[in-house]
Amino acid sequence: MKLFVANWKMNKTRGPARDFAAELARAIGDGIAGAELVIAPAFTALDAARDSRGRWSLACQNVAAQTQGPFTGEVSAAMAADAGCRYAIVGHSERRRLFGEDGPVLAQKIARCREAGVIPIYCIGETAEQRDAGLAAVTLVAQLDVLEADPPSQPLVVAYEPVWAIGAGRSATPEDCAGARAHVAGILSSRRDLRILYGGSVTPENARELLEASGMEGFLIGAASLSAASFEAIARA
Ligand code: PEP
Repeated sequence: MKLFVANWKMNKTRGPARDFAAELARAIGDGIAGAELVIAPAFTALDAARDSRGRWSLACQNVAAQTQGPFTGEVSAAMAADAGCRYAIVGHSERRRLFGEDGPVLAQKIARCREAGVIPIYCIGETAEQRDAGLAAVTLVAQLDVLEADPPSQPLVVAYEPVWAIGAGRSATPEDCAGARAHVAGILSSRRDLRILYGGSVTPENARELLEASGMEGFLIGAASLSAASFEAIARA
């Protein structure tokens, strides 16, 4: 099964989320063979984006590093699980860059996910500067160090999202993706249940080639996941 995760970021109130869900349900019928679909809405739209027939599951876009208590504005992994999230996106580059999330905090978030039974979708990826300086590979190694204490027996999704390809209108090449995939798979070779996704300007037009030529197990999709038609087209590709 290939995995397709729609990361809506800070988009869609409940009405548009409901409309998306209704349109996607109509479009996929009983589901898309060989494709597992996941929608990651804002917390406020989790209920609206839910599929009562279970043709897709839900993810949250972030969880707190703490378990519970005086952390105003935070949502715990246990709360996300209680709200129906099977997955949680952890370490998205926007969280790292705009909210200062670093390795130790991300390791805590992954630990909280495990306690709550939520599968982390752990995002990694180098910036353009790191790439130009020849530091792409060591950046991924450092970002994967965060998983050091995470039990290898647990299911894990890693999303390789080069920062220079996110929202850029220009994806990585299938060769870039294949190289990164091999690198990540080598570092995480002790993992029993690992899926590696690519994210960064995936569209219905480039999805098939990227998937076939890179060996990736699916995509994390931002802008192109905001329309049910284009999300469905990517999953069908
Ligand atoms: C993302 O932010 O996870 C992402 C992949 O965005 P986009 O598809 O818009 O590049």
